[in-house]
Amino acid sequence: MKLEPKMKLLKHKRTKIIATLGPACADEDSIRQMIQKGVNMFRLNMSHGEHAEHYASYQMIRNIAAACEKHIAVLVDLCGPKIRTGTFKNNQILLVKGDGVTITMRDVEGKPGLIPSQYKSLAYDVAVGQRIFLADGVMELVVEKVEGTEVYCRVLQGGMLSNHKGINLPDSVVSAPSMTEKDYDDAMFAVGLGVDFLALSFVRHVDDIHLLRAWLEQQGSNIGIIAKIERPEALDDACAIIEAADAIMVARGDLGVELPPEQVPITQDMLIKEARKQCKPVIVATQVLESMIEHARPTRAEATDIFHSVSSSADAIMLSGETAVGHYPVKAVEMMARVIINAEAYLWHQGAFCSAAVKGKAHQSALPFGNAVARSTSLLSRDLMVHGIVVLSESGWTTVTVSSERPEAPILAVTSSEETCRRMSLIWGVIPVLAEVEDMGNHVALAKRLVQTYSLAKKGDPILLVQGFHRDEANNCPSIMVLKV
Ligand code: ATP
Ligand code: MG
Ligand code: MG
Repeated sequence: MKLEPKMKLLKHKRTKIIATLGPACADEDSIRQMIQKGVNMFRLNMSHGEHAEHYASYQMIRNIAAACEKHIAVLVDLCGPKIRTGTFKNNQILLVKGDGVTITMRDVEGKPGLIPSQYKSLAYDVAVGQRIFLADGVMELVVEKVEGTEVYCRVLQGGMLSNHKGINLPDSVVSAPSMTEKDYDDAMFAVGLGVDFLALSFVRHVDDIHLLRAWLEQQGSNIGIIAKIERPEALDDACAIIEAADAIMVARGDLGVELPPEQVPITQDMLIKEARKQCKPVIVATQVLESMIEHARPTRAEATDIFHSVSSSADAIMLSGETAVGHYPVKAVEMMARVIINAEAYLWHQGAFCSAAVKGKAHQSALPFGNAVARSTSLLSRDLMVHGIVVLSESGWTTVTVSSERPEAPILAVTSSEETCRRMSLIWGVIPVLAEVEDMGNHVALAKRLVQTYSLAKKGDPILLVQGFHRDEANNCPSIMVLKV
């Protein structure tokens, strides 16, 4: 057998890239370069930074995306009931194994031996003997005594603890509401900005999604909701959460603290499979290229992790600290894109795209119209070796359904709504296209023109045109048209 890892790359990257903005990259030049290297969505994390900084970042993204003629989405990540440390004198303290340390609910500055908690009910939620993890589980404490506002602990695993790091209570039931006052404040800020997605952290139950959805409706907003799965309770309610949300994020940072590490890959796999089954975009996040915070090249294990996310068919992969505070934000994006595009070429040549449609088992009952048409689209795309699939999609629903079958040809998703256009940038394999309402009328001419404009197909090549999906049963009449350009 000859092993030849180099093969012809695909012209369009299918898996999307999300980059978190932070002090290391919130400038015009970095944002432009990150877009050029393949970022499809930016994340503004409300856990760090002030509204004024995020406002400036948001304006820069919109301006640069317009100048680059790219449809780029913006995600505001709400903290949710994440428990964090306050600030420390000199920004950090050293925790030494075996030492005593106190977590206080008082509003004070931290110092050696004293950790302020931003969450004021922590003392009520923990009990003697329970474990407390710090900074994504790097450090570990055990509770020895609780007295009023003070929680006295012993350090089991030490390390350097800095400002605003996460505190996890895997043994406790956290009583904090799913949306804190700060979250409502941040959500209002996001609605005002006009962002495309809100991510809700520490979702515990499907009702958390319903609550945010109802609140958004009250504000007259239809921003998409991304459920961050990072609490064990969320796994018990995962199917309902995926159904209620517009997309999910496998937030491995906190998930890997709340669950033992060996369960993280299995949980990731199960969540991706369920999200794909329900045609909901799924994002894999945290520690994807962690070593690139410090170094210009990733570890081999990190490259392999990206390959794994691509081959298990995630829609998007996210960079956090790598871009927000890393030394090589643009290089991290470039590296991510390189690993993705090589992984996709390999998988494409293996026939891995469209495999679900090919391997489909006999059904117990008929599939919904949309899903059946999406499967057929994927099969036709392979059998006719089409170079492009044009999808007409007002809300993005047709697009996400067709994409969920992972067809071999890129999907040109056409809409007349700017909002939908930006949101579709999160979906696997999709090139979002904004068209005038009048153009949408003559869809055959539009499809033929667009595949040429985007250099997907030339005169005489076969393409597919998919349209007519409707949530409302009476109007639901999807169709696939086979055309020659
Ligand atoms: P989350 O749980 O929401 O992922 P996080 O604290 O892990 O929150 P990330 O956005 O994943 O935050 O970034 C990783 C690290 O990078 C953070 O812990 C923080 O130290 C740093 N960081 C990120 N954004 C900023 C920012 N805007 N300002 C300062 N530090 C930041
Ligand atoms: Mg994180
Ligand atoms: Mg998190």
